[in-house]
Order: sequence, then C-alpha cells, then structure tokens
Amino acid sequence: MSLGIEVACRCCHKLGPHNGRGLRHTCWRRHRKAGTLDQYPPLGAGLPRLWRIETYLELRERGLSKQEIAARLEVTVRSVERYAAQTRTGVAA
Ligand SMILES: [Zn+2]
Repeated sequence: MSLGIEVACRCCHKLGPHNGRGLRHTCWRRHRKAGTLDQYPPLGAGLPRLWRIETYLELRERGLSKQEIAARLEVTVRSVERYAAQTRTGVAA
C-alpha cells in the first residue's frame, strides 16, 4: 500500500516512495524477498514520530519549505515547526 509520499526509508534513510512499514518501495520489496520484513513493524494508524522527524530532516536538506514538508508528511505546519525545534535542541531521539 502506498501513502503517496516520499519518505526517508527506515532501513537505509534514502528518500523514496513509501511502500509500507516506513520503507521505500525498493527496500520493502527487498525485505519481503529476504524474509526480513518483520524487522519493520507495521506503522498502524500513525507514523512513528522519530521516523517523521528523520523524513523532515531529509526533505529540509533538499530545500523544501515547511509548508511542502507538512503536506508530504500529512501533518500541520505547526508540527513541522516542532520537529525543527526538537532537532535544533538535539532531543529528536
Ligand atoms: Zn531502505
């Protein structure tokens, strides 16, 4: 299932189209083939906060605006500002 957003993959942190479990499409297929998909639990209702922050950092490096990042992550601009504050103070983990 694709959410239609580009994400920082949970295994390799490279950007790519999201396929499921926080993995980009190519990695999801690779893990399924290798039988290691279970290492990455389903995201369920919401995407993990840390994963969103990682994706935020990747998108910011690419020069996307707060508004664009918020749209990709399907969160509010206010949330993106929170990620920014958290990564500045080093409490992202
Ligand atoms: Zn990956």
